[in-house]
Amino acid sequence: MDVVFVGAGPANLAAALHLKNEIKKHDELVDRGIKHTKKIGDLEIAIVEKGSFIGAHILSGAVMDPLALRELMPDFLDQGCPVDTVVTEDAAWYLTSTKKFTAPITPPPLRNKGKYIISLSKVCEWLGEKCEEAGINIFPEFPAAEVLYDDRDAVIGVRTGDKGIDKDGKKKANYEPGVDLLAKVTVLGEGSRGSLAKQLIARLGLDHGKDHQAYSLGVKELWEVSAGNFAEGMVVHTLGFPSDTQTYGGGWIYGMKNNVVSIGYVTGLDYVDPLIDPHAEFQRFKTHPEIAKILARGKMIKYGAKTINTGGYYTMPRLYADGVLLVGDSASMLNGQRIKGIHTAMKSGMLAAETIVGAFEHEDFSVRTLKHFEEKVNMSWIYDELYPVRNFHAAFQKGRWSALINTGLQFLTRGLAWGFMPKEHHVPGYERMQQLNGDRPRGGLGPSDHLATDRYQRVPFDKEITFDKVTDVFYGAVAHDEDQPSHLHVLDTEICATRCAEEYGNPCQRFCPAAVYEMEENSATGRRELKVNFSNCVHCKTCDIADPYQIINWVTPEGGGGPNYKGM
Ligand SMILES: Cc1cc2nc3c(=O)[nH]c(=O)nc-3n(C[C@H](O)[C@H](O)[C@H](O)COP(=O)(O)OP(=O)(O)OC[C@H]3O[C@@H](n4cnc5c(N)ncnc54)[C@H](O)[C@@H]3O)c2cc1C
Repeated sequence: MDVVFVGAGPANLAAALHLKNEIKKHDELVDRGIKHTKKIGDLEIAIVEKGSFIGAHILSGAVMDPLALRELMPDFLDQGCPVDTVVTEDAAWYLTSTKKFTAPITPPPLRNKGKYIISLSKVCEWLGEKCEEAGINIFPEFPAAEVLYDDRDAVIGVRTGDKGIDKDGKKKANYEPGVDLLAKVTVLGEGSRGSLAKQLIARLGLDHGKDHQAYSLGVKELWEVSAGNFAEGMVVHTLGFPSDTQTYGGGWIYGMKNNVVSIGYVTGLDYVDPLIDPHAEFQRFKTHPEIAKILARGKMIKYGAKTINTGGYYTMPRLYADGVLLVGDSASMLNGQRIKGIHTAMKSGMLAAETIVGAFEHEDFSVRTLKHFEEKVNMSWIYDELYPVRNFHAAFQKGRWSALINTGLQFLTRGLAWGFMPKEHHVPGYERMQQLNGDRPRGGLGPSDHLATDRYQRVPFDKEITFDKVTDVFYGAVAHDEDQPSHLHVLDTEICATRCAEEYGNPCQRFCPAAVYEMEENSATGRRELKVNFSNCVHCKTCDIADPYQIINWVTPEGGGGPNYKGM
C-alpha cells in the first residue's frame, strides 16, 4: 500500500476521499503545465476497520456541523448523504431532581439551528460507499493490532490481528495469520483512546510537554416515543441532575424523524467518587419527571456507549512522526464545549490528506514533510474553534459553578480570560478517583452534593424507562466469538482481589457500561475474584482509561467482533 488508514470513522473516511480528490487535482495541474512538479498517479490506498461493516462501531449523538463535509463535498445532500433531519429548535435545561429550568437564551455554543441531526453510523456507511466508488480499498473485519516500525522508529505500516485463535491461544481450523500492511504513510484515526495510537504516543513520546488527556463516557439509547412527545428537529442539552457538582456531566435529547429520539448522558471519567456508575447515571437521568414524560409509553430500540476525548487543545499530542499522522479523536480534535467532534475530525483528515499529497510530491515521508500537518491544523478553523475553549474541561476540576463562570468569561473574551481557571488537567482523570473510607469516598461529598447520595441507592430497573446493563448490551447487538483469548488484558488480577477491592471497591464493575467486569466468589477459596465477560464489550475503552491502577489494557479482538451500531 501507499497509504494505510486505520479506522473507518469520519476522520479517515474524509481523509481518504479528499486524498483521492487532491491527487486528481494535483495531476491535472501538472498536465496543464500550471504546477511544475511530478505527477502522483494512482496510489494504493487502504482503510482497515475492526467492525464487521463500516459504521458498525460508530457511535455519536449526533448533531453534525456540516462545515467540513460541505468543504469535502459541496453537494453532499444531492449525493445522498443520509442526514436524518435539520435542527429547528434548541433548548438548554437545568435539572434539579424534580424540576426543569429552561435557559431564557440558549448559550451560543449549544445553538444548533440549521445543523443536521444524523446517525453517524449511517453517514459513515455512506462515506464508505463513496470511498469504494473512488477506488479506495476498504477492509472491514480487519483490526490493526500493532504498529510496525523500521530500525529508526519510523512507522512503516501496521500488522492486522490473527483470526481463528481459540481461548487457550491454540490455532483453530479457520486460523488465518494477520497480515503486514506496509505503507509509506500510516494514518491513525481510531477514535477515542485508539489502541495503536496509545502504543505510538507512548513509544515516541508524542505527548511530551502536553497536558494529560481527559475523557468522558457517553451512554446512549435510541427510543421510539409516542407521537407528540418530542418534536422532530428539537435539540435539548441538560445540566444538573443526576450529576453532583464535582462531576463533569450532562445529557442530550435529539428529535429525529418518525418519533425516534436520541437520548444520552455524558459522565466525565475524572470523577472523584469511585462509586459512580455512568450507566446508572444515565438510567437515573431518564427517571427525571421531565425526561420520563418524553419516554412514557415509548420503546427503547438501540443501546451503545463510547468514550469521548474532552481534554481540548492542550491535550493534543504531536500530530506526526516519521511515516505516521494522527487525526480526529485519536488526536484530541473534539470541541468539548460544543460536544462536537465530527466536523473537526473530518477537517483534520482532509488536512492530513493535503499533507500526504505534499509528501508524495516530494517523495519524503519523514517528519520534514509530515510536520506540515500540524502547521495546517494550526492555520485552519480547527485552531480558531479549539483554542478559545482550550481550558473548558480543565476548569471543571474546580466544580460545576466555577467552570460555568469560566465558560462565560471565555466566551466574552474569546478565550483571553484563561488565567482565572486551571488551564491544565493537573493529573490524569484516574488519579482523581478517591479511595473509599467505608462506603463513602474519603474526601466526602461536599455540602451541595446531596444528589450524589442517590447513587448509593440502586436504580430500580423497571424495563420500561430504565434498563440494566445486560439488557442494554443486548440492544447494542454485541457479539464476539467466545472461543478466542480475551482482548481485555488485566495485567495483575491479584490487585483486583486485594488492594482494589479494599481501596476502591472494584470500580471496574461500575465504570464499564456493558457488565464486562464482575467480582465473583471463587467457591474453592471463598475469595472474590475478577471475572471478565469480554464478549459483552462495546469497545468504549472506559476500562483502559479509568482503572485507577492502569492495569487494564484494551487490545483489538478478532475482526468483526463488537457492537452493531447500525443506525445509531
Ligand atoms: C456519545 C457521543 C456523542 C457524541 N455527540 C456528538 C455530536 O452530537 N456531534 C458531534 O459533532 N460529535 C459528537 N461526538 C463526537 C464524535 O462522534 C467524534 O468526535 C467523531 O466520531 C470522531 O471521529 P473519528 O473518525 O476520529 O473516530 P471514530 O468515530 O471513533 O471512528 C473510529 C473508527 O476506527 C475504528 N478502529 C479503532 N481502532 C481500530 C483498529 N485498531 N483497527 C481497525 N479499526 C479501528 C473504530 O471501530 C471506528 O469505526 C459524540 C461522541 C460520543 C461518543
